[in-house]
Amino acid sequence: MSGKPDSSTQPLDWAQFPQWGARAAQWAGEYHAGLRDQPVRPPLNPGATLAALPEAPPEQAESTEAIFRDFKDIIMPGMTHWQHPRFFAYFPSNAAPIAVLAEYLASSVAAQCMLWQTSPAATELETRVLDWLRQAVGLPKGFSGVIQDTASSATLAAVLTMRERALNWAGNQHGLSDAGRLRIYVADEVHSSVDAAVWIAGIGHENMVRIPVSGPRRAMDVEALEQAIALDRAEGFIPTGVIASVGATSVGSTDHIAAVLAVARAHDLYSHVDAAWAGAAMICPEFRDLWDGIEQADSIVLNPHKWLGTPFDCSAHFLADPDSLVKTLATQPEYLKTHGADGVINYSEWSIPLGRRFRALKLWFLLRGHGLEGLRRMIRDHVRWAGQVEAALAALPQLEIVTPCMLSLFSFRVRPEGMAGADLDAFNLALLEAINADGRIYLTQTRIDDKLVIRFQAGPFSMTEADAETAVTVIAKMAATALEQVRGG
Ligand SMILES: *Cc1c(COP(=O)(O)O)cnc(C)c1O
Repeated sequence: MSGKPDSSTQPLDWAQFPQWGARAAQWAGEYHAGLRDQPVRPPLNPGATLAALPEAPPEQAESTEAIFRDFKDIIMPGMTHWQHPRFFAYFPSNAAPIAVLAEYLASSVAAQCMLWQTSPAATELETRVLDWLRQAVGLPKGFSGVIQDTASSATLAAVLTMRERALNWAGNQHGLSDAGRLRIYVADEVHSSVDAAVWIAGIGHENMVRIPVSGPRRAMDVEALEQAIALDRAEGFIPTGVIASVGATSVGSTDHIAAVLAVARAHDLYSHVDAAWAGAAMICPEFRDLWDGIEQADSIVLNPHKWLGTPFDCSAHFLADPDSLVKTLATQPEYLKTHGADGVINYSEWSIPLGRRFRALKLWFLLRGHGLEGLRRMIRDHVRWAGQVEAALAALPQLEIVTPCMLSLFSFRVRPEGMAGADLDAFNLALLEAINADGRIYLTQTRIDDKLVIRFQAGPFSMTEADAETAVTVIAKMAATALEQVRGG
């Protein structure tokens, strides 16, 4: 085959596909090799990409060559680079090359993995790799796993299960009009996907009872939880479920899982643990005290698509008793009778959407391609480097660490002498903008105890110790400049 791709306007067919596949792979390799020298976030104004795109769809086929060129020229200059080695914002969404390869294969096969018979090997691989992951994070035998598209979906599925269990499985049938007021208990710093799950489930946001957090872990106050449940019962509400967090998004708040789950058990409430980000770190035994007592949970979510290295989407949902979930979500209850018993699992009955992509393949490739030891090394490096950045920043003048490292996440702010309140928040927001405009690193902010703080998390798959040092250099320089400007008036 000649190296020159066809520039005709014949739609791409499978005969030409290998050539274009090779070009895409070539592009991907070069893209990643050059990332470190690119700004993490594009210096772009809103509307720039939209303006570069034709307003009407094409009537006639265009050449693959032209489409590919526009991908490079129009789209890529407007992308924030999530795989950049110095992406320290939000949480990571790592895509290990081996797992990207699996995604490519999965989309080539393009199977719909809703039922066992629509995807026998994909279904059985999902069963196997989730059991590998269960062992990897130290969950006991007896937990069954399923891959959901997102943690938001897993949490919604868990909230629906709590609701149905509390209503003796009648809510789906009769609706909630006569159901009484169900109550869900959460820590004050829970992820916003929990708020959404509670209102989508028809429980109502005002029935999401936020328990205050305290202590260095910013954990839910267990005594307050106990009291809230007792008070609600006395007032005729229906306590329904508890949602605990391990590594909440803002600054990594982590509940005392054993104590929270003991209360849930004592009151016969269904429990869900959101470990979407931090759950990946549980492959390292030394971090497992963060979720001590987890074996008492009814439902747990952790996202291999965050820190671990499977490209989005791959959210692992573990269940002590999948029957409750299936009873809640199955649209064709006759499946219940054979569910799991004869080796046939229809995972669509475990999820809200019917259709399912072949997501197990990338997790399988990842776990085999890196081994647990390789993945543990990455996570340990990130935790260590985040600690080094925290220590280096703590030594800077007028910089205060607001929340210390929880695994690889901490928060800080810079405080010019005599500045407080809204001025101080605005100062730090401007500092953050200056840091991000520099382009070498990318950070985000959050609010904690009514203070605006800057978050730092170490998590990119391709990060090295030098990238941690660059983060310190950039933050120190920008902070010094901002302080000077204040002093200069
Ligand atoms: C990221 C995150 C979520 C949401 O995850 P999705 O998979 O994007 O829905 C929920 N909870 C926590 C703690 C998170 O960090």
